[in-house]
Amino acid sequence: MKPQRLVVVNGRRVLVDHDSRKEEYSDYNKTRYKYQPEIIKFYNSRAWKNLSKQTLNEEYYVCRRCEGDATLADHIIPVRVDWSKRLEWSNTQPLCFDCHAIKTKEDKKKYNL
Ligand SMILES: [Zn+2]
Repeated sequence: MKPQRLVVVNGRRVLVDHDSRKEEYSDYNKTRYKYQPEIIKFYNSRAWKNLSKQTLNEEYYVCRRCEGDATLADHIIPVRVDWSKRLEWSNTQPLCFDCHAIKTKEDKKKYNL
């Protein structure tokens, strides 16, 4: 029999193989997926639509990275990383479509999203 260890899964203690990380991942994925509808709801909210419009207006629809035509407001610190900063004006910036795609990739790497 393999050495075992105790882990907490969904608030319950269970024994798993000493080298298994399966339970931790299933727990992690569960909270992750629970989070998604909230994010979708946020992006459809009036509050976010107003803030993103304001972000673009304030900087004359100029992309902060390449100075091209900005089409959207970006969260400098992604909402998945810091949910509390989702409606903070200082955490938004206007970006063009291409720069936003690049930044999203960078964030994925940087924050392991
Ligand atoms: Zn750009």
